[in-house]
Amino acid sequence: MPIRQLPPLLVNQIAAGEVIERPASVAKELIENSLDAGATRIEIQIEDGGHRLIRVSDNGSGIEGRELALAVSPHATSKLTDAEQIVSIRTLGFRGEALASMASVSRMRVTSRCTAEGLTAEEGWTIEASGVEVGHPTPTAGAPGTIVEVRDLFFNTPARRKFLRNASTEIGHISDAVSRMAMVWPNVAFTLSHNGRKAIEVPADQTPRRRVLDLMGAELDEALLEFEHREGEIWLWGLAGLPAVARATSKFQYFSVNHRPVRDRNLIHAVREAYRGLMPPARQPVCVLMLETGDEQVDVNVHPTKAEVRFGHPSRMHGIVLTAVRQRLLSSDLTPTVAVSLPVHQGELRADASDAASTGRSSSDRSTSASAGVANQGTFVESFQRMGPIQKGFDFDEVRRDLARDEIGLGGNPLEIEPRGESAEAMPPSTTPPTRDVLQVHKSYLVTQDEQGLLIVDQHALHERVMFEQLRHRITKHDLESQRLLMPAVIETDAKRMAILESLQPLCKKIGIEVEPMGPTTMAIQGFASFLFERRVEPLEFLEELLDRAEEGQIETDGPHVEEATLHKVLDMMACKAAVKAGDAMTPQELDALLDKRDQIERSSACPHGRPTSIRLTLRDLEKHFKRT
Ligand code: ADP
Ligand code: MG
Repeated sequence: MPIRQLPPLLVNQIAAGEVIERPASVAKELIENSLDAGATRIEIQIEDGGHRLIRVSDNGSGIEGRELALAVSPHATSKLTDAEQIVSIRTLGFRGEALASMASVSRMRVTSRCTAEGLTAEEGWTIEASGVEVGHPTPTAGAPGTIVEVRDLFFNTPARRKFLRNASTEIGHISDAVSRMAMVWPNVAFTLSHNGRKAIEVPADQTPRRRVLDLMGAELDEALLEFEHREGEIWLWGLAGLPAVARATSKFQYFSVNHRPVRDRNLIHAVREAYRGLMPPARQPVCVLMLETGDEQVDVNVHPTKAEVRFGHPSRMHGIVLTAVRQRLLSSDLTPTVAVSLPVHQGELRADASDAASTGRSSSDRSTSASAGVANQGTFVESFQRMGPIQKGFDFDEVRRDLARDEIGLGGNPLEIEPRGESAEAMPPSTTPPTRDVLQVHKSYLVTQDEQGLLIVDQHALHERVMFEQLRHRITKHDLESQRLLMPAVIETDAKRMAILESLQPLCKKIGIEVEPMGPTTMAIQGFASFLFERRVEPLEFLEELLDRAEEGQIETDGPHVEEATLHKVLDMMACKAAVKAGDAMTPQELDALLDKRDQIERSSACPHGRPTSIRLTLRDLEKHFKRT
């Protein structure tokens, strides 16, 4: 085939293929134009999921009648004049492609009446464009501002039309696009209506927080932690959702850079890292993050729909976000509360409602995400039902009296994990009277109170977290202390595991395990981490498990440098093995000491796997439940 210049319509339609994927992309581009025109009120009207009509009207500066034809032609923009400007571009648009692309695949009409510095043009103008045809502007009446109507999207490109989904799916995408934009522009009023019914309505001049709550649902108010952070010319504002309201998808993470909503893997990763260990790995935090940076820090011209940006120093940005979010999380009490008569939809984001309706998702699906953090463990009520009736006549004072008589059983404190001689935070001596009332139920859960209400603690999960934090703290300073075994423990194994052992050596040294090859298929454990020893963990079993995990690839062992993630996994394993188990009886002193630690360590709300260590029933919940209010 000979080489030919493509006809203009085809060129535009190809460009449209990149920019205009579906009705939501039309809405997004038109909203961007309105914002660039300085609008403070933007109204989006949709008919039939956008298949029939997408109409965006604004009160912005407008387009002059004589410029209308230019506005709808390709590569025509008022926002960029030379190449240098592109690095410092502050408008949302700059490619001059959107209107022309839309016109090439729809029937479009633009109506505009200019207004600038208090002067409003006497009349407005309107122009129609479709395919290659561009009409002549004609005068018209109308309010100042611009109205763009896009009808019959993809009417002349059947291949693309085929990809359009039903109206409810498309309106879901549109409402997502509008929300993302409205989230970042809280000073601008937005309304979205579908077939005449309002779907989103937010007023002008809101605070960022108020805007987020209006869009996501006011019931999230108490579950969003606000933070702000400045470093050099980078400024960051955001809301971090409590682990208890985490979701199954990252849909409820909103990021923006210089007032431009973006998807960015680097930022998503930073946020996930900040929540590491605070929620199960499969959950995704709810998070809103707005970044402002100098122009040199970010390149916006890397993606056709401008959904992605490129940072000049991605790892620095990652670090700043990670630190800001983590600091905020660590400075707050993340204990999930258990609302006893929790309505199933509580905490469900409002934007979900249309989705749920369209996909026919049942309300029971939705209830699983309602009280996310707690749901995994079953509700408070369920766990109590499982445990059966609490023994009658349990008397704290009686236990205490018994204790005073008999102090012998308190020997080696199972919570004491500091090897002798390097104790950083000594546990209270066993004769100190407990400072709070704690009830151990079924040797598994601790029930106590704090100023907010009733606290139920999973003894294993909390102890595991306590040990984990202490180990982590200590290992940053030096290798864990090792204790020599009187008799080396010998393992018979095979060549493959001998090789794995070799690669595990740097890790073993760090965690206080001395293990040497004794023959081609024999190894001997000579020394074992003191604290595991004290907690009566079996050296042989422990090492076998470590080797198993390395063999399965769960623990990466390349080179002399031990990765932080690997170390985490191993410390986690150690903490889990050494922690008190469900079913272990604990003395009141031990209970007390454990709960003291809860207040002292970081991330005490979740065990290292991210499951909650404690749940709370607030006084308010109790009052509600007992119908006292
Ligand atoms: P870009 O936004 O990249 O400049 P568009 O094709 O989206 O390209 O728009 C072309 C031009 O039309 C814009 O540069 C702007 O001058 C004008 N324009 C489009 N929409 C509006 C609007 N709602 N209000 C005022 N001017 C507009
Ligand atoms: Mg534009």
